Amino acid sequence: MLRVAVVGSGPSGVYTAQSLVEQSAVPVQVHVLDRLPCPYGLVRYGVAPDHEKIKSLQRNLRAVLEHPGVTFLGNVRVGADGIAPERLRELYHAVVYCVGAATDRRLGIPGEDLPGSFSATSFVSWYSAHPDAAPAGFVLGAESAVVIGVGNVAVDVARVLARGAEELRPTDVPDAALAALADSRVRDVHMIGRRGPSQAKFTTKELRELGELPGADVLVRAEELALDPYTADPSALPAANRRNVEVLRGWAGRAPTGRPRRIHLRFFLRPVALLGGDGPDGEGGGHGPVRAVRCERTEPDGRGGVRGTGVYEEIEAQLVLRSVGYRGVPVPGLPFDAERGTVPHAAGRVLRDGRPSPGEYVAGWIKRGPTGVIGTNRPCAKETAGSVLADAGLLLARAVPDDPRPALRGLGQRPVEWSGWLGIEAAEAALGRALGRSTVKIADWEGLLAAAGGDAAGVRDRA
Ligand code: NAP
Repeated sequence: MLRVAVVGSGPSGVYTAQSLVEQSAVPVQVHVLDRLPCPYGLVRYGVAPDHEKIKSLQRNLRAVLEHPGVTFLGNVRVGADGIAPERLRELYHAVVYCVGAATDRRLGIPGEDLPGSFSATSFVSWYSAHPDAAPAGFVLGAESAVVIGVGNVAVDVARVLARGAEELRPTDVPDAALAALADSRVRDVHMIGRRGPSQAKFTTKELRELGELPGADVLVRAEELALDPYTADPSALPAANRRNVEVLRGWAGRAPTGRPRRIHLRFFLRPVALLGGDGPDGEGGGHGPVRAVRCERTEPDGRGGVRGTGVYEEIEAQLVLRSVGYRGVPVPGLPFDAERGTVPHAAGRVLRDGRPSPGEYVAGWIKRGPTGVIGTNRPCAKETAGSVLADAGLLLARAVPDDPRPALRGLGQRPVEWSGWLGIEAAEAALGRALGRSTVKIADWEGLLAAAGGDAAGVRDRA
């Protein structure tokens, strides 16, 4: 029996487990470990609550985690303040790290950390009920918000800000976030791209959805589209970018129709500083809460990039969400390419000093970087699973325990098994009923572990 641990139960981890059990010529048992007591990674904690169709992918992931050859073990920490990779390797023939990209990229500009400026990933964690999310007062008092970046995460956070709480009430958004969004005074959401519309990273489906929001007007400036050499004739662009340009062209110059909120899609603006209000430096660059984003107008450089023009614009904002991409975090004990934010690998085999490290593999964002949609993880996971199975002869030469769970407990872990997760699901359905809503997510460790029951309940001090 080939015994494999997959670390991470997001799409890349679950697709890896699926490929292993479906493709293996030898009997295989896969343990899918996750530091959270809940499975599904970014499908649960990243996909926006109003994207029910994408969230329904959980049904496919669930079928894999309920496969007889697969066991989910939540609440198990690997790496930082958890099990060291070399110890985990002793418990399994192979370990596949599918740990994603757990932090956000930095802008590296003055004022980035002023009060009122947050990473979009922290905002996403908050409205997704991630138990580690800070209970930040995201929308408190803000009337104008700037979202920096024009990728799909930027579209998600702009859309959530632009939706009324009533539109989010039928979703599983946690109650505290729903209450805060109900009190939101945000009226203007500015999404800013440093390059042109033809280079925006969002997908057309997500872009179009902004134009369908019942309570928001989408505003695009014709003069900014005109700066892009492809706006007049997008035919030379790849299909996805061409469709984006066509949608934006359709919106250009439209006047607001008087809906309560406005989404301003802006281009060729490079943020150079976040300006604080009433700090010691006064109006110009104080340390008080953010009051504006200072941007330099850019123009195409003819090589796909942009250059500054020396012309500046300030966009008023009491809330700034920096949405410039995710970034992988090193797992202590595993090699790491700090520049790319990934683990060096060859076809999914972890490379130590340029050589494949026996029994260690990667898949998903920690392997290829934080790009692509959920489905991109399928071929990526398949490649890695293929490498594991090709190595099976060598891997099986080493003896490992039949059941590593006692050893995991001996290492201080209190695994939440599938029955525990079903307990969390039942508690979230009950919470929804009590609040007069459909399922509502539990947003704290204590609540999750209590709902999971077993020896996970009440054991861990998460502080
Ligand atoms: P992303 O697609 O890489 O977009 C990042 C954006 O930030 C780009 O517009 C980029 O502009 C901009 N940016 C980067 N550095 C910047 C800087 N220093 N100053 C100003 N702007 C900067 O990242 P993401 O939106 O976080 O999404 C990550 C992945 O998740 C993507 O593959 C995305 O498609 C996926 N996702 C999908 C969905 C969905 O399917 N509904 C939802 C959420 C996320 P440049 O292009 O100029 O670098």
